[in-house]
Amino acid sequence: MLRVALPNKGRLSEDVRELFSDAGLEVRAHGERALLASLGGEFEAILVRARDIPEFVADGAADVGVTGWDLVRESGRDLGMLLDLEFGGCRLVVAARDDSGIATLEDITDAPRVATVFPNLARQFFARAGRPVTIVPVSGATEIAPHLGIADIIVDLTSSGSTLRVHQLHEVATVLESSARLIASPTPAAAAERAASELAAALSSVLRARDKRYVMANVPRVALESVRRVMPGVNGPTVIDILDGDQFVAVHAVVAQSAIYRTIADLKSLGAQGILVTRIERLMP
Ligand code: AMP
Repeated sequence: MLRVALPNKGRLSEDVRELFSDAGLEVRAHGERALLASLGGEFEAILVRARDIPEFVADGAADVGVTGWDLVRESGRDLGMLLDLEFGGCRLVVAARDDSGIATLEDITDAPRVATVFPNLARQFFARAGRPVTIVPVSGATEIAPHLGIADIIVDLTSSGSTLRVHQLHEVATVLESSARLIASPTPAAAAERAASELAAALSSVLRARDKRYVMANVPRVALESVRRVMPGVNGPTVIDILDGDQFVAVHAVVAQSAIYRTIADLKSLGAQGILVTRIERLMP
């Protein structure tokens, strides 16, 4: 049994469940507030707070876990990163009040108070930058600290920047880039290591497929050379005979989602018919 620690609620939990479900590992919790869930096969999940996951994995309560890279780094625990799951993207930034006169790190003087939910990362960052500060640990709503007079600047997560703007704060420096990651103990048992790397391969095949589409079309045989150019696929398109008297052939290829519009227009201009575009569940190179 491989035990996987997953966020029970919060920003990452929905995306994590969707990813696992797409990989054929549906999270089946035994009730609303259950701690344990079955994932099918040789996997089971413990559903816990995202912030606790680095500790659980480091202590061996779970073999692997999914949580934000910011929380992994803040924990200071020695953990291996198996896979970047690409969602939950955000940055940990230093932010100051718009009326503070602070534009860059060089403007930070006189050991200001820094409110943050990430005291360890903030302390390390300012020490490395050679800027003495006083860390004020808070447990949430960091962005209001400067307005309450609790702190002069903050270190907080941002993705769109809108929360900072609403609170008349602006970014001064980036401390860390984060996204959801699959993490594991750096010294796993052999069986757990094998299961964890199979899990990473399954999840990464789903992620790889998400921005790709499978395109099928019937094209005039005479246009085949041009089709190779507009639909290169992984190793060139697959070409299949059609029992139509040799005029048309079916071509199939994997195409980046971002290129679909162009590919369809190009295929049409080559005389393609019956163009079909479908999603791909998994892609293993
Ligand atoms: P939770 O507190 O359980 O909602 O999870 C928070 C985690 O979601 C953070 O530690 C980040 O890894 C991630 N995250 C992604 N975008 C943001 C954001 N804009 N603000 C806060 N957390 C974010």
